[in-house]
Amino acid sequence: MRKKIVAGNWKMNKDYKEGMSLFSEVVNMVKDELIGNQQVVVCAPYIHLHSLVALGKGTRQVSVGAQNAHQEESGAFTGEISVGMLKSVGVEYVILGHSERRQYFGETNELLAKKTDIALKHSLKPIFCIGETLAERESGKHFDIIKSQLAEATFHLSAEDFAKLVIAYEPVWAIGTGVTASSNQAQEVHAFIRKEIAIQYHQAVADETTILYGGSCNPKNASELFAQPDIDGGLIGGASLKSRDFVDIAKVFNS
Ligand code: PEP
Repeated sequence: MRKKIVAGNWKMNKDYKEGMSLFSEVVNMVKDELIGNQQVVVCAPYIHLHSLVALGKGTRQVSVGAQNAHQEESGAFTGEISVGMLKSVGVEYVILGHSERRQYFGETNELLAKKTDIALKHSLKPIFCIGETLAERESGKHFDIIKSQLAEATFHLSAEDFAKLVIAYEPVWAIGTGVTASSNQAQEVHAFIRKEIAIQYHQAVADETTILYGGSCNPKNASELFAQPDIDGGLIGGASLKSRDFVDIAKVFNS
């Protein structure tokens, strides 16, 4: 059975005090209200992570993630954070390849292949993001784009390593826009991603890969999206900043 995951991406929001209080609310609601095996992952700014790991200790269904990491082990990279540092404070997941990192920080598939390698080397679980822009979808190139993002950044991995990834399909045109992909559009791409994984590796690897949908997901549209056969949860931006909304999204997997 594939793991169901609802991951929140706080981006550059919430100061330290606000972050602690939001996370505490999430942990309490998860303890009281989640009855399935779904995993909730909170990907917060770096300065919050150590404290969030401590606050989440003992709550099996809650994990902490970072939103990025550097591709080198250590060294003269002023302002950067290594995967070893993240591991040393108990972080379990790391978002890699978010479209905002690709767009504003010039992250390429080649660079992301290195980040994926080092994350796996340190047993940090990547939530690896792929997705097309509006122009790419409108010109019918979305399947090619998604295929090359996957192939260039992750298909060099052994099947054993690939199986440690969580994939997030996030159409760029749906991120932070309030425009959600329809459940049919999202399912079509998720099925395509799973097929590509089966072709590259094995059907068994594809069947076990958790593929999240991200892009204006909220408590109203989550049920329909997560009911699709190839959608195993969500990567949630805006709605993860409200504890009630975020946990309501995770509660879709209660039933
Ligand atoms: C995201 O940033 O990964 C995201 C899905 O954002 P939002 O839910 O706000 O569209």
